[in-house]
Amino acid sequence: MDAAHKDLELVAVTKRYGATTAVDAISHKFRSGGYACLLGPSGCGKSSTLRMIAGHESVTEGAVLLGGSDVSRLPPAKRGTAMMFQNYALFPHLSVADNVAFSLKMRGVDKAARLKSAGEMLELVDLSALSDRLPDQLSGGQQQRVALARALITRPEVLLLDEPLSALDPFLRIRMRGELRNLQQELGISFIHVTHGQDEALALADEIVVMNNAVIEQAGAARDVFNAPKTAFVAQFIGGHNVVALPEGHFAIRTDAVGIAQAGTGTLQGNILGVEYQGAHVSVSARIAGDQEISAMIPEGAFFANPFNPGDQVGLIWDKNNLHKLTA
Ligand code: ADP
Repeated sequence: MDAAHKDLELVAVTKRYGATTAVDAISHKFRSGGYACLLGPSGCGKSSTLRMIAGHESVTEGAVLLGGSDVSRLPPAKRGTAMMFQNYALFPHLSVADNVAFSLKMRGVDKAARLKSAGEMLELVDLSALSDRLPDQLSGGQQQRVALARALITRPEVLLLDEPLSALDPFLRIRMRGELRNLQQELGISFIHVTHGQDEALALADEIVVMNNAVIEQAGAARDVFNAPKTAFVAQFIGGHNVVALPEGHFAIRTDAVGIAQAGTGTLQGNILGVEYQGAHVSVSARIAGDQEISAMIPEGAFFANPFNPGDQVGLIWDKNNLHKLTA
């Protein structure tokens, strides 16, 4: 029976802190059972949005609907959502099992039932062997799994994750994001994950919601947002694109769709500013007319078959079918 799965909808949700409008009348429907990332630069309103969904922050105007019911005025524990915090917020004096069982204790569930449930959650995140440890006897990745188990024990419809990977080192971050993705698919519930990292969003999300200046700039499937950014902001923030001003308007072109050739050939003439070896690719930047900078990701073999150096005059080549018109 998965009749319980419910969409989460924001209807003209606004958050003001005094004179600051942190979230400005945003509307969006998060599909049930999807992995969504709220992506945007620091201060754009992502955390405020997440905290309003969770009930840890009041909604100034608008409504949060879960399965069509307005949950905006309900306390966090009554919403069908659960939040995993950035710093995990584990209780240092409680064992792993008691940390995980904590919210059931608050709900008055008897000890045997809550420890059984905690045991199941620890099994889910592969931590059964460590249930008697204290949080400071765990690695960062293990603490994160405890925090996940603790959030999931209430069987939420929607799990909210606020920068869940930011406390981890880069290697562990990549491993844990794979685990998050697997867990979401196994559970089939909705995850809404806040991040300022475009690579994290692309790696994880079915749907990316790009925020900027308190509004949603663009939302869509990860590949659609990457391949068809609507605005210069999205093209720049999602990465892997150049934004160029041409007589016909502003366009995005992917850095891997730009090639480099001898001066006098190609679409535009440029001057090489920098060459950076990145392993599989070489990243080349060049200045073109109008003082604009273009980046090209050239496959390693192709670059070294015909290398260029900073200061060289070159031709930049692209297929105009790869130019993507921007609306703003
Ligand atoms: P993000 O998560 O994208 O970094 P936030 O939602 O944390 O953005 O913040 C959005 C805006 O609201 C920022 O300008 C921030 O300074 C402001 N803000 C966030 N929380 C508070 C608060 N408790 N009191 C006052 N201003 C806040």
